[in-house]
Amino acid sequence: MRVGTLWDKHLAAFWGRIPSTRAAWATVGAAFVGGLVLAVLLWPAPSVSPNPSPSPSPSSSPTAPLNPSPSPSPSPSASPSPTGFDKEAFSIDDPTSKWVVVNKSRPLDPLDYASSDMSDLSPVPNGSWQYMRTEAADALRLLYAAAKADGVTFTVATAERTYGDQRVIYRRWVDEKGQWWADRSSARAGYSEHQTGWALDIYDTDECRLQYCFSRTPAGKWVAAHAWEYGFILRYPEDSVDITGFIWEPWHLRYVGVELSSEMHATGIETLEEFFGLPAAPTY
Ligand SMILES: [Zn+2]
Repeated sequence: MRVGTLWDKHLAAFWGRIPSTRAAWATVGAAFVGGLVLAVLLWPAPSVSPNPSPSPSPSSSPTAPLNPSPSPSPSPSASPSPTGFDKEAFSIDDPTSKWVVVNKSRPLDPLDYASSDMSDLSPVPNGSWQYMRTEAADALRLLYAAAKADGVTFTVATAERTYGDQRVIYRRWVDEKGQWWADRSSARAGYSEHQTGWALDIYDTDECRLQYCFSRTPAGKWVAAHAWEYGFILRYPEDSVDITGFIWEPWHLRYVGVELSSEMHATGIETLEEFFGLPAAPTY
């Protein structure tokens, strides 16, 4: 069952009862980690290190190459990046694609698009009643297990939000903060990554839930350093409101797959708009 606006639900006590899919997850996890290791080892980018950088990501500069193709290509085919990365391997328009780019100038089509192929996020705390697309949910479980192995835990705030959920949330923001602030903090219905099933918000302590100080919590630091290793990016980086249209959201993780997250990490390009050479989307 899908659940809508469940901000106030309590944690489900599900530790230790990962259902009969435990063996399947172990297999999936092993395969994924194996693939990840291979991908990292074989990655052709000269600047990729098999060890993650110990620092988070504030190092990217606005001088990062936005679109490295030197001149208009005579052929309509994709222009490969210097690393040979194929930027057209997946659609950036189709909401069922893990590379879909949704922003204030790229609404979902249809606006009330409802994602499918969803799985709940057990055993991540609060995850039993939150949903993402299955590929993203599987990756989140691996990310959570890795964080936990490092002594870090986090809780799911919200993952998928339907068109109807988002309408309610956006209106609440407008009522409480006014439209200017609402538009920097919450997407209008039909314009939210959460509606695709590829994104989620997490928190560590209650006091830093959906607050900048999340970035200073153990979970905030951990995901800033390691989320890319599991196919996630921090979709709304600091000081990127003029590009993404949204304020810094260190708690908002977007699944794009480990190939793309690794490439973005290696090149230091933090936003999907810059990576794919799309126009900035500061406003609707
Ligand atoms: Zn979010």
